[in-house]
Amino acid sequence: MGNAFDLSGKVAIVTGANTGIGQGIAIALAEAGADIAAVGRSTADETVERVRAMGRRAINISADLATIEPVGRIVEESVAGLGGVHILVNNAGIIRRADSIDFTEADWDAVIDTNLKSAFFLAQAAARRMIAQGHGKIINIASMLSFQGGIRVPSYTASKSGIAGLTKLMANEWAAKGINVNAIAPGYIATNNTEALRDDEKRNAEILGRIPAARWGDPADLGGAAVFLSSSAANYVHGHILAVDGGWLAR
Ligand code: NAP
Repeated sequence: MGNAFDLSGKVAIVTGANTGIGQGIAIALAEAGADIAAVGRSTADETVERVRAMGRRAINISADLATIEPVGRIVEESVAGLGGVHILVNNAGIIRRADSIDFTEADWDAVIDTNLKSAFFLAQAAARRMIAQGHGKIINIASMLSFQGGIRVPSYTASKSGIAGLTKLMANEWAAKGINVNAIAPGYIATNNTEALRDDEKRNAEILGRIPAARWGDPADLGGAAVFLSSSAANYVHGHILAVDGGWLAR
């Protein structure tokens, strides 16, 4: 099949690419040949440097995805700086923890706005361009809480269950226009997002005890799935939520 995983000549927008899963995915896409537009409220200088060291192009696009105000500009800056948009990875996300009985509207809105609303409208902005060019790949970052309820994270569960539904909806509308919309559902990955869980000895032991692979995931563990879903190897894969979870859901 030649190298169906080759991403040479492709431009990928990755949100939240300065750290964690977004950084792991940006590096993996660049290793497969893609140029990277690293979007975030913090600049992704380390990611950009690592991508350039591989001989790929990379730019920072400064944007706060707490609102949808920057979505059009993100696509425009990617086109102006790197010549196009072929892949979008909707990775930026936050979590707020509190008992549901005490959960505040502020913690509800902050998580839904960033994880769900901005992800949808950035996908819409990218899809307008992808439909015009006849092809594109959109990857949303889901969660185990796209399948399970979780505990003490109501807005996060709602956002990640929502992103799974939207992944299927967008696939239904855009598959025939040459766009593949899929999601990756990471299991428990060692990043800033899960630091509080890993620091809690009891929760850490409970989580590890349930993971068949018997270890936390590393951001690099998401790279293979991201390259696959970004590549022509996945041209007939639509609306799928791909768990990369060390076996968590199998348990
Ligand atoms: P992380 O290390 O906390 O990274 C989150 C990224 O999102 C950072 O780059 C952050 O930028 C960015 N971000 C947050 N709010 C933003 C905003 N308003 N505007 C622009 N960028 C914003 O967490 P992570 O674990 O890598 O999470 C990445 C994605 O994976 C999230 O969608 C998360 O829900 C999902 N996920 C994580 C796990 C896990 O176990 N870690 C499991 C399932 C799903 P700053 O550095 O500027 O804050």
